[in-house]
Amino acid sequence: MKDDAIAKFGQSLRGALIGRGDPSYDDARKLYNAMIDKRPLLIARCVDAADVIAAVNFGRENKLPIAIRGGGHNGPGLGSVDDGLVIDLSTMKGVRVDPVNRTVRVGAGCTTGDVDHATHAFGQAVPFGVVSTTGVAGLTLSGGHGYLSRQYGLAADNLIEADVVLADGSFVTASDTENADLLWALRGGGGNFGVVTSFLFRTNPAGTIYGGPIVFDLADAATVMRWYREFQSTAPEEFYIFLGLQTVPPVDPFPREHWEKKMCVLLVSHNGSIADAEKAVNAVRATLPRPIIDWAGPMPYPALQSLFDGLYPKGLQWYWKGDFVKTLPDAAIDAHLAHAAELPSAISAMHLYPIDGAVHRRKQDATAWNCRDATWSLVIVGVDADPKKAPALKKWAREYWEAIHPFDLDGAYPNFMMDDEGEARLEATYGGNYDRLAELKKKYDPGNLFRVNHNIRPAA
Ligand SMILES: Cc1cc2nc3c(=O)[nH]c(=O)nc-3n(C[C@H](O)[C@H](O)[C@H](O)COP(=O)(O)OP(=O)(O)OC[C@H]3O[C@@H](n4cnc5c(N)ncnc54)[C@H](O)[C@@H]3O)c2cc1C
Repeated sequence: MKDDAIAKFGQSLRGALIGRGDPSYDDARKLYNAMIDKRPLLIARCVDAADVIAAVNFGRENKLPIAIRGGGHNGPGLGSVDDGLVIDLSTMKGVRVDPVNRTVRVGAGCTTGDVDHATHAFGQAVPFGVVSTTGVAGLTLSGGHGYLSRQYGLAADNLIEADVVLADGSFVTASDTENADLLWALRGGGGNFGVVTSFLFRTNPAGTIYGGPIVFDLADAATVMRWYREFQSTAPEEFYIFLGLQTVPPVDPFPREHWEKKMCVLLVSHNGSIADAEKAVNAVRATLPRPIIDWAGPMPYPALQSLFDGLYPKGLQWYWKGDFVKTLPDAAIDAHLAHAAELPSAISAMHLYPIDGAVHRRKQDATAWNCRDATWSLVIVGVDADPKKAPALKKWAREYWEAIHPFDLDGAYPNFMMDDEGEARLEATYGGNYDRLAELKKKYDPGNLFRVNHNIRPAA
């Protein structure tokens, strides 16, 4: 690539163009998951749609592989690419709440925390994930589930409009009335169809939540898990509990006598009245064994959303495996407990996130996100600060997954996959929607310009 072509491209941008010789290059290319180390040729820090159009055109004309980066949180580091162009949207941060129409307009570089902060002032929220440093873009485009999903659906279900730069550099809006097929694809089909520069979401009531962790010794985990598998189908939709098998972190404010104990944790969130919530959570407390820690109580919704932020800063080693789960038979619980007993680090974990309620009320072909018959989205994450532990994290996560996968469905939440799962797994994930996605890929990106992602290849 000629230097003058790069210089001309840089001059056409309002944001920075960062190359390998730039002092900020090493910092700019860093991803949330430090297990992934990529060396792009160029990083275009776009500040607006005009920059994105210029970047897409430059990448296409120069035959560069293109990665799209929102929050940079993706497990396999699909927000970057070796020897290619990163379209980095992280500075596109604007958030505008419309409290009358109950919508929020979100720039493509926002984290979920940016949006939660803005909507909370109006007692509103979008159902995002459970760590506030995650990018809205990658989370939403592959689905997005969290504490409010039983009540209000996925983040993608609440997406009502998106501005998109397509592979040919044209700019379009996708909504129910304009390019409705593109909106269908963006609701779960990932970064395959274009670069989204701005999202419009519906917002929903969520102010003070009754939530937080209730922690049990691992010795009680079988009892808790057997209770949990029955509980969910009887709980009102505003009552969401995700279950974790992990370790009490050896840090304050966790009580020292419990540091490094293996635990089964219920992460509770009740978005009803505080009186109803207290009654519902107390009924759970009365049914289950005595917890070793119980921190559930009223708190602002954004506080619940950021409870884990301190435990999981940028720069750790992560290895992810996921599955969609329909039922939890006793034999599956036994397999979970055997592998939870071997957790490879203090912050590795298995989580089961509820997929029901409002998520089930949409038909499977209503959006690209297909797996609406699952009961949970499962993730196994091997995580540690020490790069030397990477092989052990991977080995544990893979062996755990191999043991429990026979009890699970074939597909998995794409945001919980590394890039070593293969096309068949993606087809299983999208099920009956896969062929339509491939057709839409052919329509909107026939040359597969956007292929640094969980790639859906254009139909033949
Ligand atoms: C600590 C942690 C907790 C998490 N918790 C949850 C959770 O509770 N619920 C949940 O649903 N997920 C959760 N996730 C998974 C998360 O949804 C994914 O990691 C997601 O990909 C992050 O999005 P991002 O924008 O930060 O990622 P990036 O790495 O920036 O982007 C990921 C991919 O998304 C696509 N993309 C990003 N921006 C755009 C855009 N503007 N236009 C088109 N394509 C784009 C691209 O294909 C890109 O490769 C969690 C992840 C982490 C690390």
